Amino acid sequence: MMAEKNLDSLFYDTLKDIYYAERKIAKALPKMARGAQSSELKSALEKHKEETEMQIERLQQVFEIFGKRAQGKNCPAIEGIIEEGEEILDEFKGTPALDAGLVSAAQAVEHYEIARYGTLKRWAEMLGLKDAAQLLDKTLSEEYATDEKLTKLADQIANQKAKAA
Ligand code: FE
Ligand code: FE
Ligand code: FE
Repeated sequence: MMAEKNLDSLFYDTLKDIYYAERKIAKALPKMARGAQSSELKSALEKHKEETEMQIERLQQVFEIFGKRAQGKNCPAIEGIIEEGEEILDEFKGTPALDAGLVSAAQAVEHYEIARYGTLKRWAEMLGLKDAAQLLDKTLSEEYATDEKLTKLADQIANQKAKAA
């Protein structure tokens, strides 16, 4: 008989998706930080790398609350988003448009995460996993805050530099 597919299975699959994605992001952020030209963008990306490490630990706690082993599941979306960021790093290296491009790449990552955590938080609530919902909401707030900070960096520094060139 086929295993039952329900909100439980969706929650577990999506948790594995974002667990895989966060670990990829933790590897990608230092590369992006090293590439960034402005010290502001560099430090924003470095700070978010540290937050990401905490987010991975939070996900491990969510797996535990859910009563399942923490494991990742291949996420082609984050691989594609990160690949596009690497293309920008490559193709805009040494140009005044690099930081604007890096911000856009980093925001694509944050938006994927916001989509995932927004859903997971609601599903955790539906499943009665109150503590898990709280952990997921904490991370969701960090992703929103990072996205806003990146918008500010784009508006105040990166986009003007790219345009002026
Ligand atoms: Fe994250
Ligand atoms: Fe995915
Ligand atoms: Fe993030």
